[in-house]
Amino acid sequence: MDKISIIEEVLRELSQQRVSAELLAKQNLLDARKKSAGFKKIDDLIREKTVEYASYNKEEDRAKKLLFEIRELKTKRIDELKKIGMTKKDIEPNFDCEKCKDKGFVDGKMCSCLASKVHEKLLKRSGLPTFVGHNFKDSNEKFLEENKTLAKTFELAKIYVEKFPDVKTPNLIFMGDVGVGKTFLLECIASALIEKCVYVVYVTAFNFSNTMLKALTLEPNEREIILSNFLDCDILIIDDMGSEPMYRNLSTANLFTIFNERDIKGKPTLISTNLNFEDFEKRYGTRLFSRIFNKRTARAILFEGKDLRIS
Ligand SMILES: [Zn+2]
Repeated sequence: MDKISIIEEVLRELSQQRVSAELLAKQNLLDARKKSAGFKKIDDLIREKTVEYASYNKEEDRAKKLLFEIRELKTKRIDELKKIGMTKKDIEPNFDCEKCKDKGFVDGKMCSCLASKVHEKLLKRSGLPTFVGHNFKDSNEKFLEENKTLAKTFELAKIYVEKFPDVKTPNLIFMGDVGVGKTFLLECIASALIEKCVYVVYVTAFNFSNTMLKALTLEPNEREIILSNFLDCDILIIDDMGSEPMYRNLSTANLFTIFNERDIKGKPTLISTNLNFEDFEKRYGTRLFSRIFNKRTARAILFEGKDLRIS
């Protein structure tokens, strides 16, 4: 599923919500008209005057007079409603979002309610641990002040997020020892991008490897769905490459397909690894190594310094 399908899914949910709110209001209005003759009479008058109002230029005296009368009648209509134990809210659709009336768009722009629902779905699908997923706000300012190199890397990551998708080298490779902050920074990038409604899929190399192995035993269409999850997302993050089990040539072949097709589609892939250049090439072979460490599309960043986990 790509991001467009996710947005469409949310819009369908919003539309169902809107239609049922409108139906309920309409039903309540019909009930009120049946229950109270006084309400019905005023409601009919409002309708007549509204139709007449629509035929005039709003600036004309007659239009102004009609508008005043309609407002007065609406107040009376509420009084009639109260007599039968109902309120104004009962005959008006109860939208979740008053700003866009559950349409998802205001003046052609995505409403904040649609953005937050899409964001929620993206977060769920991302594979990011929702409650522990780190954010730039979590970064330890004092620690970064003492670690200029790391601070620079954090700055670079923030700029990457800000400019995304308009970035010079789309693929980032975080290299360095265990515990120097690679995963932390990947999670920060992922969270910040999801907040921008970017479709992120985050996976550890270990889970990626196992998922691809399991996919082998599935029906072709199910395998296709799993593969498309890694191919269609806006950003794929594979954390901790080098720690996963290798299944002969299968692991390398799968990784090559993913990296290659994503590069062709112009979709960025971010990885982290404890391996140095030499060990990386030895483990994954020259073909995959050159594909990933391609100067045109990728930037390798070396993490150094103190262990972040003990700070
Ligand atoms: Zn809205």
